[in-house]
Amino acid sequence: MRIKNLFEEKNLVYSFEIFPPRPNYPLESIYSPIDELSQINPDYISVTYGAGGSTQNNRTAMLSSLIKNKHQIESVAHLTCIGATRDNIDKILDELEANKVENVLALRGDIPSSGLVEGDFKNSQELISYIKERDNFGIAAGAYPEGHIETKVKDFDLEVLKYKEEAGADYFVTQLFYDNNVFYEFLNKVEQKGIKLPIQPGVMPVINKRQIERTIELSGASLPEKFIKIINKYEHDKLALRDAGIAYATEQIVDLISSGARGIHLYTMNNPTIAKTLTANIKSLIKSVNSRE
Ligand code: FAD
Repeated sequence: MRIKNLFEEKNLVYSFEIFPPRPNYPLESIYSPIDELSQINPDYISVTYGAGGSTQNNRTAMLSSLIKNKHQIESVAHLTCIGATRDNIDKILDELEANKVENVLALRGDIPSSGLVEGDFKNSQELISYIKERDNFGIAAGAYPEGHIETKVKDFDLEVLKYKEEAGADYFVTQLFYDNNVFYEFLNKVEQKGIKLPIQPGVMPVINKRQIERTIELSGASLPEKFIKIINKYEHDKLALRDAGIAYATEQIVDLISSGARGIHLYTMNNPTIAKTLTANIKSLIKSVNSRE
């Protein structure tokens, strides 16, 4: 099933994101987390592609296939096009198609630190149009409530979002953010721009200080005072930081759902315990929202 149909059927789409193990780790090390995440029964699970250049490409396809075919949960395979030829992309799409994976999250990918990029695609719109031509995949695209880190012109990312919609994306998933007001302001601007596609906010519960520092470095997400206090207070107490992180993410999600968000995409960091606890906290809200006309 295409995820776009889920957005048509449900008021709220609830999904998880995982990343494949690094190439020097056995693929099987993620099987048990996937098993546990599947038992929570999210609407779909997405699998990242080579984030930070650390995963072998085919692992994304293999895990997307496992989620879909073994666990019977819809999967979304992330796909980046930076430095890729059309032939590279075709091979991956063929593999996904052969494995009955029906959805991809089409991204440009980060520019390598060398700055050297050769390939057939300049940005994600070109990838979206290319996948759209095949006409056999649902297509998600990335959105940046605080602006993409490379974007110098204020609100230019709204233009880019419109291009992605016109190129054939079905819905957007956002980069993580910790201040919901940033997301609401973004939604207002998106509406003014005439963009109609559903936007699924991405939420990442903080688990440790290093994780948050790396995330902020890559995404440029701003941190509210309340959040900084939590990090500073509990950075050396793993359990306390985890509990405070779950409580913060729960509050964030409750507010997003109550404000009418079309979905929640949970960056699970491959940690089923956190996903389970968080889902238990909000399960009745999801049920309530989805039981309405
Ligand atoms: P684009 O939409 O192409 O935009 C990239 C930059 O180019 C922006 O600054 C934009 O303003 C500019 N731009 C775009 N189009 C134009 C144009 N026509 N003219 C001028 N400027 C333009 N990365 C991974 O490597 N693997 C993953 O699995 C992964 N998963 C992600 C999941 C989500 C939900 C998100 C939000 C991001 C993910 N990323 C992943 C990170 C992503 O690859 C980077 O943020 C990347 O730098 C941008 O990708 P994009 O598709 O959003 O790029």
